[in-house]
Amino acid sequence: MNPKSVLFFDTHSFEKPYYKNTPFPIQFFDFHLNPTTVAAAPPAMAIVCFVNDVLNDEVLEILFKKGVRIIALRCAGFNNVSIKRAQELGIKVVRVPEYSPHAVAEHAVGLMLNLARKIHKSYHRIHDFNFSLDGLVGFNIFQKQIGVIGTGRIGKVFCQILKGFGSHVSAYDISPDLAWAQSVGVHYTDLETIWKNSDIISLHCPLTPESRHLVDEKIFEQLKPSCILVNTSRGALINTQSLITALKHKKIAGAGLDVYEEEENFFFRDLSNEILDDDTLTRLISFPNVLVTSHQGFLTHEALQKIASTTINHLNDFFSERK
Ligand code: NAD
Repeated sequence: MNPKSVLFFDTHSFEKPYYKNTPFPIQFFDFHLNPTTVAAAPPAMAIVCFVNDVLNDEVLEILFKKGVRIIALRCAGFNNVSIKRAQELGIKVVRVPEYSPHAVAEHAVGLMLNLARKIHKSYHRIHDFNFSLDGLVGFNIFQKQIGVIGTGRIGKVFCQILKGFGSHVSAYDISPDLAWAQSVGVHYTDLETIWKNSDIISLHCPLTPESRHLVDEKIFEQLKPSCILVNTSRGALINTQSLITALKHKKIAGAGLDVYEEEENFFFRDLSNEILDDDTLTRLISFPNVLVTSHQGFLTHEALQKIASTTINHLNDFFSERK
C-alpha cells in the first residue's frame, strides 16, 4: 500500500478536475461506500467520502482494519458518519464546514421562484411551441411571509436574499442569532407561527434525531394551502409519505426539493434508461407542483473549488503530522 494514496469514493466527473496536481496520489472510485461495497475498498490510510457514503459502525470497523486513519468528507453534513465509533477507533473525521452558503441559498431561491412563477411548466410548454399562458398564473414574492427554519450559514444568506425581495422574513432556530436578526430585519418566532403564517417555508437546519421528520402529517394540517415548501437541507427533515398525502389533498401549493429521504440510491446517477423502482420518488416527480433537483445546491464552480482546497489542506496536514 502506498501510505499516501488517497481513495475517493462516490466520485463524479464534475469534481475530478478540481483535484489535479495534488501532492499525493489519488484513486477515484465511482461507487458509494456502504456495508456491501466496503469489501471492495483497497487498503489505505486516507479516504475521501461524500454525502451518500454510509459510514456506520460496521463500515468504519472494516475501514480501520484496512488501515484508514482519516476520513475527509467533501461536504458539510456528517449525519452519514458514526462519529462516536470513529472516535473510539481513532479515525479522524474532517469535513468542509463552509464552502459556499450562497450556492445552496441561491439554489433554494431558484426552486422557490420556479414554483412561484411556474417556470418549470413554461419551459416544457415552450419546447412544444405552446405559447399559451393558461394555468401559469403565479404570485409575487414581494411582501409575502417567508418562514426559515435554521439560520446558520445557509439560512442566513437565504433570509438576506429574501429581504432583498421585500418579503417579511420570520425564522426559527434552536440557537437564534439575535444580533444578526436585528441587523438584517429578520424576526425570530416559534415553529408553530412559522407553520401557520408562512407563504413559503425553507428548511436550513441539519438532520438530527430531533429534526428527523420535522415536517410530518401533523404539520401539513397546519400549513396554509397556498404554502410552498422548499428543502435544500436533508431529505429526512420531511416525511415524504406525508408530503405526498398533503400534495394529493391540496394541503400545500408546491414543494421544491433538492434532497430526498432515499436519495443515496438515485441521486447523482443517470438512470434515464432504467425503470425507477422507487414509487415514492416517482410519485413525487409526477406532481406538476413539485420540483425535484438531485442534490445540486452545492454545485457551483466556487463551491467545488473551496471543497477541493479545504479537502487537500486537511489531507496535507494529516500527512505532515504523521511524518
Ligand atoms: P449551519 O450549521 O451553519 O446551520 C444550521 C443551523 O440550524 C444552526 O443555526 C443550528 O442552530 C440550527 N438548528 C439545528 N437544529 C435545529 C432544529 N432542530 N431546528 C431549528 N434549527 C436548528 O449549517 P449550514 O451550513 O447552514 O447548512 C444547513 C444544512 O444544509 C446542512 O445541515 C446540510 O444538511 C444542508 N446542506 C445542503 C447542501 C446541498 O447541496 N443541498 C449543501 C450543504 C449543506
